[in-house]
Amino acid sequence: MTTTRSFDVIVVGAGSVGAPAAMALAESGLKVLVLDRAPSVGQGSNKRAIGGLRATHSDPAKIRLCLRSLEIFSTWKARYGNDIEWYKGGYSYVAYRPEEERTLKELLVIQKASGLNIDWHDAASFRRVIPDINPEGLIGGTLSPDDGHASPLLAVHAFYSRAKALGAQFRFAETVTGLLTSGGRVNGVRTDKGEYAAPVVIDAAGPWGAEVAAMAGLDIPVRPDSHEAAVTEAVARFLEPMVVDIRPVAGSANFYFYQHHTGQVIFCITPDPSIWGMDVRETSSFLPMVASRMVGLIPRLRNLRVRRTWRGLYPMTPDGFPIVGWARELEGFMLAVGMCGQGFMLGPGLGELISRMVQGSTDEGDRETLTYLSPYREFKGQEKLK
Ligand SMILES: Cc1cc2nc3c(=O)[nH]c(=O)nc-3n(C[C@H](O)[C@H](O)[C@H](O)COP(=O)(O)OP(=O)(O)OC[C@H]3O[C@@H](n4cnc5c(N)ncnc54)[C@H](O)[C@@H]3O)c2cc1C
Repeated sequence: MTTTRSFDVIVVGAGSVGAPAAMALAESGLKVLVLDRAPSVGQGSNKRAIGGLRATHSDPAKIRLCLRSLEIFSTWKARYGNDIEWYKGGYSYVAYRPEEERTLKELLVIQKASGLNIDWHDAASFRRVIPDINPEGLIGGTLSPDDGHASPLLAVHAFYSRAKALGAQFRFAETVTGLLTSGGRVNGVRTDKGEYAAPVVIDAAGPWGAEVAAMAGLDIPVRPDSHEAAVTEAVARFLEPMVVDIRPVAGSANFYFYQHHTGQVIFCITPDPSIWGMDVRETSSFLPMVASRMVGLIPRLRNLRVRRTWRGLYPMTPDGFPIVGWARELEGFMLAVGMCGQGFMLGPGLGELISRMVQGSTDEGDRETLTYLSPYREFKGQEKLK
């Protein structure tokens, strides 16, 4: 096989990260190729996401990236005309125990310092935010009104269409099987269909990110674990923000849900212990577990009928932070993996950061962000709002 086509950048993976990254790279005039083994855009973890978009995080790096993502999601329709079902319903975190009250109040300091619009509400005030919340033992909670949700399918397709309009090329049903290297630098990729040359290759392969990194001889700590989600029938609107309950109970670490603007309630739970591996078949344990927690929090949910469940993969890292940065071992190879449960919300902001990294135009804020996300950090910390 011979190298047939040359690009400035090759992105492996057309998912939550790869598609907006391609858009940002093409926007800056670079010649971009995106390769994905799936037959169309967003067919990996992207389409399994429930659409939550928040800048409510526990560290300045993700807050900064997601504030930018929210700007892009929330202004998309006005700027480009296509509807990605953005809805600004906010995010709320509930506290029924002093432990959660303390955690949430401690986080407010860094969140406010990082420019997040968020406030603590006592029980009476929080009941105005979520009128149907179980009042028994409620201490209060936080509300960040500028967060919201959008459709992962419509959004990834919008980014893909714009990237193409800007000149990015996408090749689907084509698997990257190896990297072309010489003298300690990357020169392109090999696929099951041919070879492509580029001085920059970006690993945006999500749950398969470690496989692609291994092609560069790198051993990175990205392991997929599975999470389940479900959607109910549509009912009249009764709930505005995403509701997140971070109380750990036997079997689950936390759970979250929101009402879509068309009436369905969409929800998810974080299993504890984690369910490692690539299996995405639905389980029989998910619905009983999550339903009893949700009904405990909002009793009127007991009458809702569930329409569908599904299961997908979080590309997890040991500390819950993404892995983004240039590989020291192979010049020109960039990691943009390990998005955990937040790749959809990080995607557009991260895409722009990736573009600045490729162009060598990062600023001081970017460099601080990249310190948090460094592939060479010690992975000792723990994200508090995973
Ligand atoms: C139930 C559930 C709910 C979630 N809810 C949310 C949410 O509300 N908000 C949020 O932000 N996130 C959420 N997430 C997490 C989110 O889905 C992921 O973090 C995100 O999709 C990861 O994006 P990615 O681009 O890294 O990976 P992906 O979107 O999986 O993209 C990776 C792509 O790489 C391709 N690929 C892999 N290997 C190769 C190869 N060798 N050659 C070619 N192509 C390859 C794959 O086919 C895939 O398309 C949720 C996840 C699940 C499972």
